[in-house]
Amino acid sequence: MERMTPQDPAFAAPGRFWKGNIHTHSNASDGMRTPEAVCATYREAGYDFLALTDHFLAKYGFPIVDTRPFRTAAFTTILGAELHAPATALGEMWHILAVGLPPDFAPLQPGESGPALAARAIAAGAFVAIPHPGWYALTAEDAATLPGAHAVEVYNHTSQLRTERGDGVYLADQLLAGGRRIGLIAVDDAHFACMDAFGGWVMVKAEANAPEALLEALKAGRYYATQGPLFHAIAWGAEEVEITCTPAASVMVLGRGSRAAQSVAPGQTRVRLPYAALRPGGFARIVIADAAGRRAWSNPVTFGSESP
Ligand SMILES: [Zn+2]
Ligand SMILES: [Zn+2]
Repeated sequence: MERMTPQDPAFAAPGRFWKGNIHTHSNASDGMRTPEAVCATYREAGYDFLALTDHFLAKYGFPIVDTRPFRTAAFTTILGAELHAPATALGEMWHILAVGLPPDFAPLQPGESGPALAARAIAAGAFVAIPHPGWYALTAEDAATLPGAHAVEVYNHTSQLRTERGDGVYLADQLLAGGRRIGLIAVDDAHFACMDAFGGWVMVKAEANAPEALLEALKAGRYYATQGPLFHAIAWGAEEVEITCTPAASVMVLGRGSRAAQSVAPGQTRVRLPYAALRPGGFARIVIADAAGRRAWSNPVTFGSESP
């Protein structure tokens, strides 16, 4: 059988990469800065876009903050919110990240569950992600009740700073091993009670820095997540994958369970890794880490039902 050569959805697409943080809070919920100040903070730091995602709770008046006035020629915003409803396996309120909500998205309905609310956000056109799973010990069984979610936060900066539970890689890998297609995002979730901005973001490939184009690219998986290192290219060949990137101490291709291949050496900017042993596991994804341990995560490519 002829093997299909996978294509990274971001690097195979036209356009350029735009830098954005898609999980942030303002004083419209429990953040410390005004929406205008939060947008200015990211704009002045060189971000191309921001999604302000305040807590969509009755006590805050179910805010979908209108950030459109804070857009400029070089900086855009996507409307969104962090949604809440009962209840995870541990009995806590769900946290559900929804980016690209309409301004009139209806408040939580009587009896509405987290999964029902997530489904309603997806139906309304949002990119929906599972935020900070490590922060509140979300399980793969919980995640299975959100079958339409597009992504998992593999890194949440404020969760890392405040609780050392910022990592969500374990959940993404369990879902991928179960055959689910899911994207990997990194975010700040900044509240500015401490300096919790600029620790994790997404690089989204689109032809324009416009909300609609960015949202479409997010839903299609045309992005990667990072704490700093940048991918210049990820080229999948028939037997090897070639990664071109900013100087990396580790470059690795990871698959189902313990399947992996890697190159560990200082200052690597171009690495070829064999990945044939990963194909029977159904997916492969790339991770790089710089000398300071900061990582970047590609979205997975999948191999379908190809025979081992
Ligand atoms: Zn949250
Ligand atoms: Zn949050």
